[in-house]
Amino acid sequence: MRPILATIHTSAFAHNLQVVKKHAPKSKVMAVVKANGYGHGLLHAAAGLKAADGFAVLGINEAIKLREAGYQQTILLLEGVFDASELTLSARHHLEIVVHCLPQIDILEMAKLTTPLNVHLKMDSGMHRLGFAPHDYLSALKRLKACANVANVTLMSHFATADDERGIDAPLSVFKSVTKALTHPISLANSATILRHPNAHFDWVRPGIMLYGATPIADAPAKSFDLKPAMTLTSEIISVQTIQKGESIGYGHRFTATKTTKVGIVACGYADGYPRHAGQFANDELQHGAPIAVCGQMTQTLGRVSMDMLFCDLSQIPEAHIGAPVELWGETVPVDNVATACGTVGYELLCAVSARVPFKVIQN
Ligand SMILES: *Cc1c(COP(=O)(O)O)cnc(C)c1O
Repeated sequence: MRPILATIHTSAFAHNLQVVKKHAPKSKVMAVVKANGYGHGLLHAAAGLKAADGFAVLGINEAIKLREAGYQQTILLLEGVFDASELTLSARHHLEIVVHCLPQIDILEMAKLTTPLNVHLKMDSGMHRLGFAPHDYLSALKRLKACANVANVTLMSHFATADDERGIDAPLSVFKSVTKALTHPISLANSATILRHPNAHFDWVRPGIMLYGATPIADAPAKSFDLKPAMTLTSEIISVQTIQKGESIGYGHRFTATKTTKVGIVACGYADGYPRHAGQFANDELQHGAPIAVCGQMTQTLGRVSMDMLFCDLSQIPEAHIGAPVELWGETVPVDNVATACGTVGYELLCAVSARVPFKVIQN
């Protein structure tokens, strides 16, 4: 069998959930498992995070999958419903919904639901993506309160710069000034806010990336928060080449050896989700690619990533032969470091792991 494998560590999820609780001990935890559990598999992530108070997903199908798997906690649809039929389904499965725009209130008012729904009313506190503008927020709340299909309302917003030096002071004060007379529960904090801004934890926190063991903050490694990677992506060396000075490898001959170089070919390519532009953002002359580990030793990718394979430098790893173990990311190679060498964030790499990669779940 082709040797690529994504191993999911259930215990890392449980550990990272404890890290969330340590930072936000008074808040309930809504574990964000959208995008197929950030690429880990929705049900794998949910199993690891079963102690969470709730789950947040994007699509109603993901929510129903969780209900059908037996999860009884709060399940929130992060963008709410897209039409009236999803509202009926939401009521049937006891889902909670975000309401972020007027047409969603119209749908709620016109529906005839058997049970009223809990609603998370979203304010646009400055990100300008989803949500009611601050000056429209209270009138939206008034309509929800008057609507027979609405049970409880949670006040919700999302921050654009919780992970950098600009912080959340401006949007938080907008949110607070609009809601100061209200006593509803509040939900604001993503991972970066949980780790950096305890003044915005409130009733619910909504961690995503930190639960998977990657960092939400560019200059702070996941390890510095005691987070453990929930996924290890591994493969093997399937061919070894020795190239001479002046010879080049791969499509476009993007890497040319300056000395005799032992090169390993790894069974992992962009069709597995590994970024094709790996290494294009490497920042010094000696650095040609993204970090990768072979036989437990750090090295780097070389040349262009192909659809099904990539190259790596084995010059310093004499024991590496065909069949040698390779870690693309995980305990030895933080996914965030691979992401940096690819000009992106760990979120994108994890979400992109493709359907052809087999998964193995271990309970260690
Ligand atoms: C994705 C998402 C989160 C989780 O964000 P992380 O940065 O992964 O912690 C929280 N809230 C909302 C509304 C989201 O869309």
